[in-house]
Amino acid sequence: MEFQPIKGTHDVFLKEMDEYHYVTALFRAVSELYGYREIATPTLEYTEVFSRGAGESSDIVRKEMYTFLDKGNRSVTMRPEFTAGVMRAIVSNKLYASMDAPLKFYYSGPAFRYERPQLGRYRQFNQFGVEAVGTDSPYLDAETILLAVSAFSMLGFEDISLKVNTLGDDASRKKYRAALKEYFASHIDEMCEDCHARLELNPMRILDCKVGKDQEIASSAPKMKDYISPESDSRFYKTLSILNKFGVKYEVDESLVRGLDYYSEIVFEVHAKGKDGKDYGALCGGGHYNGLVKEFGGPDYAGVGFAVGVERICSLMEENGLFSDIDSELDVYVMPIGEEVYEEAYSLAANIRALGYSVETPFANAKLSSYFKKAERRNAHFALIIGEDELKRGVCQLKDLRKKEQREVKIDELEETLDEAFGEEESCSCQNEHEHEEGNGGCKCGCSHHHE
Ligand code: AMP
Repeated sequence: MEFQPIKGTHDVFLKEMDEYHYVTALFRAVSELYGYREIATPTLEYTEVFSRGAGESSDIVRKEMYTFLDKGNRSVTMRPEFTAGVMRAIVSNKLYASMDAPLKFYYSGPAFRYERPQLGRYRQFNQFGVEAVGTDSPYLDAETILLAVSAFSMLGFEDISLKVNTLGDDASRKKYRAALKEYFASHIDEMCEDCHARLELNPMRILDCKVGKDQEIASSAPKMKDYISPESDSRFYKTLSILNKFGVKYEVDESLVRGLDYYSEIVFEVHAKGKDGKDYGALCGGGHYNGLVKEFGGPDYAGVGFAVGVERICSLMEENGLFSDIDSELDVYVMPIGEEVYEEAYSLAANIRALGYSVETPFANAKLSSYFKKAERRNAHFALIIGEDELKRGVCQLKDLRKKEQREVKIDELEETLDEAFGEEESCSCQNEHEHEEGNGGCKCGCSHHHE
């Protein structure tokens, strides 16, 4: 039997791994600029955490969770999303008692959904996200959207589309649900099986249905905007006015309801087009929510957050050539000429590593030409050649494989030489030329790239 990863899961390595780290590091750095701290919750939670959190009527809870009984006969679930677990953690650890509001956390890691695998849709995928709870303010809602938008721009996305909508407060939504229930009840015989269940659990979910006929019926359904209270309406426009002030472009999309039950007030999604027009779906989804912390036994806190799909972002960046600056180069490939110098070369490699440079050295004696081939495949910046003669004289040959220049360097002066060479080369990889500043210790964009 040939083993393959489980359908909808995939192995990540080499370039894709570098890209994954690049994207999450950027989101991490930007979140820290906004005062967020990291939280890591378990991958496995009691099933109830998600049924309470994501909501009984969501597709995620109804159809997509990896749920099983553990050996103690408890129902547990691989997290399908992070928000519920983060809320549970805030309450389990009484973080609201020790931290000032808003409590701001970011997270990243794998999530699991039993969905039909297709472009941009996996059964195990990675999310990065933020949650800010304990403060109910359109300024915080706007700040969260600004965080997402600025991270996308720093990744090099020039043309994202930000869709926003308001779902109103709880009272508005209750009235709207009742109106939808009445409308869909008269069409339900023509609709899919799933919509039968949605009608009972939460008729708003019908608006998300992908079945053609159901979409047609939904297009004439009552509109959310006719049920929004004046307070929710003015809150929504306040948030939009803040976005306007920051020059953020958005489109109000009244069909945006989001797939999770907990949202109220503003919801948003970020989309972007691939060069060849492929649609990867939303790159980011989020919004404001009430009552989630209370649901887990904590205070009645409002919150706002978003999650991005890291694979989708990586695929689009790859397609649009936004990863050009990532190179996983090896700093030095040490090449011992002859077995006699191997031990010395081995120690030299260790010494160079201790200086903070990445180094590889071969483990079997081979021809110099074969070492050079290896160095090239490994994308090495320098080849360091050392034979008996060099060893005796306390020198080595250092070849810059980019510039194709070779010179003799004293081993004692290797640190200086490498520092100089890499110092000269150092350039920012954040792709934000305009914000890239030399000499003040770092890049303003928070890409965590620091210049001497
Ligand atoms: P959600 O938690 O459903 O709001 O999703 C947030 C983001 O996670 C989406 O905008 C996608 O980018 C990503 N995402 C959701 N489901 C999947 C999936 N099955 N495969 C890959 N990415 C996903």
